Amino acid sequence: MRRLDGQDYAAYQSLRGRYAFAEFELAIERVPKDPYAPPGTGVFRVVAPRASTGLTAADSRGERRAVAVRDHFARRFAAAVRAIGAGRRGTGHSGVIAIPEPGPAVLDRTSVRLDEHALEVRCFIGLPARGRRIHASSAETMLFDELPSIAHAALAADTLDRAGLDRHVHAVEDAHALRDQLAPKGLVAFVADGAVLPRAGGTDPAPLRGEGVVPFAAPEELRTTLVAPHAGSVTGMGVRAGVTLLVGGGFHGKSTLLSALAEGVYDHALGDGRERCVCVREAMTVRAAPGRAITATDVSAFIGVLPDGRDGSALTTPNASGSTSQAAAVAEAIEAGARVLLVDEDTSATNFLVRDARMQRLVPGREEPITVLLDRVRELHDALGVSTILAMGGSGDYFEVADHVIQLLDYRPHEVTARAREIASELPSARVPETRRPLAAPAERTLVGGGLDPVNEHGHHSVRALTARRIAIGRGRIDLDDVEQILEPAQAQAIAFALKRLSRRLDGHRTLRSALDTATAEIARDGLDVLDPIHGGGLAGFRGLELAAALNRVRELGV
Ligand code: ADP
Ligand code: MG
Repeated sequence: MRRLDGQDYAAYQSLRGRYAFAEFELAIERVPKDPYAPPGTGVFRVVAPRASTGLTAADSRGERRAVAVRDHFARRFAAAVRAIGAGRRGTGHSGVIAIPEPGPAVLDRTSVRLDEHALEVRCFIGLPARGRRIHASSAETMLFDELPSIAHAALAADTLDRAGLDRHVHAVEDAHALRDQLAPKGLVAFVADGAVLPRAGGTDPAPLRGEGVVPFAAPEELRTTLVAPHAGSVTGMGVRAGVTLLVGGGFHGKSTLLSALAEGVYDHALGDGRERCVCVREAMTVRAAPGRAITATDVSAFIGVLPDGRDGSALTTPNASGSTSQAAAVAEAIEAGARVLLVDEDTSATNFLVRDARMQRLVPGREEPITVLLDRVRELHDALGVSTILAMGGSGDYFEVADHVIQLLDYRPHEVTARAREIASELPSARVPETRRPLAAPAERTLVGGGLDPVNEHGHHSVRALTARRIAIGRGRIDLDDVEQILEPAQAQAIAFALKRLSRRLDGHRTLRSALDTATAEIARDGLDVLDPIHGGGLAGFRGLELAAALNRVRELGV
């Protein structure tokens, strides 16, 4: 390496190979051609013999446990980099050692691989440069001082917090057990007593701390007891299948509870506060996203004939309105297999949720193409088996159609269903239901793969996540701002690769649903690495529902 000092950055390529360090082997597999290239373009593997890590055979018994153990090591490695890595020095990414930063959810992560022989961390190492020239002495510090210290702190048996690892794994196994009990008990979600739901900040996913935090406490009427293998009996609030309203004054905690349910499709890392807050896996947040594209989506359950003569049975628009975008989100979620819809008035289009008696009189039904969710939400459950949980402080018209009404008062839930029914009969809403025909499942679409060309403006293949909510495929951009259950850029990166893989197989004969099922089955069978030919370690697990959401937001999707 000293010989390379001062040479052009490209000379770093000559370092490719495998090197034995005292406690690990370093494989330098791909070095980017210049110091500004994004982290995904470098592949470095730190491989420690399994025997040196303190892991036992039991630590990889079962897929769930193995995922939790790998997630734990990803967190340890990221923490070690934060504590020890000296960070950027020189041009571009010079000096950076990184793996994708794990968020609040425990996910399948390709950044850590574990088999019977070895534990492998796939990281990025920004080999340092001054300008575009190799800076060998910095590189020497990084590779011979920092990296061994980081590897020791993250991977060695004598730094392993055995009890901490066990608690992390147990939290995940308990969450799975709780989730598995939902359907047999007629529940769609469960929040344990004592859970801490509020977050520290709008973008900070850490739990809120301090005296003002009110731990969750189930109302007596909704208290349920589930059993977890490690925690034993867990009491909390069960949310039943059907139509559930979360009501309450502003700032009383409705959205916080709904978000916790939305993220309850994932398991949570130890210390998150929501470890025992679970939701069925097939729950999808559906919100308005004015301006998004919609392609041949059957929104006829909610949208009739538009003023320009088009109808909602296969609606295409590059620029949907708020109500249309939310109608599409519902139809798309159901098409992709959602069993629970999570709706928050804060992120909804008002005219998708409600239309009251006075408005019905002024603007008669024949002049209004929209059928509001209020008039479909019962059928969604009774005819299609899709439950809805709706956070709604603004309209009591939903009292008639709700199975359960839960009021949040000072962050504490109360069961108020009977009272809401009473009020509904004392104060009739006077509105008339407006449905033109019975609800049917949205028509299935067949994909031909347009809109997914991976070639960018420079003629190169380019498929990558720019952020957790933005994907670049070739020249195209997919905006996922409204897809709330994507939590990490690594998930978006995996979704981007999955889209690319999918696009090669769309021949005009596959329905969207069958394409999704194939994609998720393949990943379940072969692992996430199947999406990434260079096994760069930048991917995290996602659901078919998010893959569908991304596909549905492709502009000029071929349908
Ligand atoms: P709503 O949707 O009912 O208007 P939010 O869920 O947005 O209310 O909550 C309002 C504020 O209260 C947020 O800042 C949130 O972090 C905080 N909050 C929510 N739940 C709790 C809780 N259990 N303890 C303390 N603060 C909370
Ligand atoms: Mg709110």
